[in-house]
Amino acid sequence: MSLADSNEKWQGSPESIAAVCAAVLGGAALILNAAVKGTVPFYSKWLRWLLIKFYLPVMVMAGGLMGIPKIRIERTFIEINNQMVRLMGRRFRPEKLLLLMPHCIQFDNCKIKVTRNVRNCAGCGKCEIGDLLSLSDEFGVSLFISTGGTVARRKVYEDRPDAVIAVACERDLTSGVMDAYPLPVLAIVNKRPRGYCMETGVSIGDVRKGIKCLMGVG
Ligand code: SF4
Repeated sequence: MSLADSNEKWQGSPESIAAVCAAVLGGAALILNAAVKGTVPFYSKWLRWLLIKFYLPVMVMAGGLMGIPKIRIERTFIEINNQMVRLMGRRFRPEKLLLLMPHCIQFDNCKIKVTRNVRNCAGCGKCEIGDLLSLSDEFGVSLFISTGGTVARRKVYEDRPDAVIAVACERDLTSGVMDAYPLPVLAIVNKRPRGYCMETGVSIGDVRKGIKCLMGVG
């Protein structure tokens, strides 16, 4: 059967159109409910696809009309995404996990080049890279400090991890989760005591929890 034939059949089936409409409206209701209540009731591939491919642009547009700041919509998106990743209930092997950090997490005056090789870090304690390296060794997960989105995407493409734990600002996490789809990304918003892109930080406890969650050990 040709594609044209199947299209004709699909177009001619009111039941199929009704089923797709019901699924989209049902998905919309679930995601809107999640956005309002802050919890996702269950995981489904379909719901995750809807969230990432369809509802974010719609939510940004609707939020713009209602005067809701984009960052609030991004935070909600990140929270719903993280809940869905946790609800997947998959146990990832540590060697197939990637910890992806932005280079702005590094102490500004540190002269050591950690973006090429994070093992160059001397663990002086002036930024969290030393602690992240310890976590990476403790669990046996890879750690990469990225100079930007393109480099991060290339790293994911080359390493082919099964899941990523990413730390960044809301905007970069949102675009990263969308670009990486269908790869599961647990997104952790960074700390910004000095503003964007300058000596940012991360809760090591949150990263530890994220690793344990994806490994299914806590
Ligand atoms: S912890 Fe590592 S990267 Fe951070 S300032 Fe010290 S040596 Fe540099």
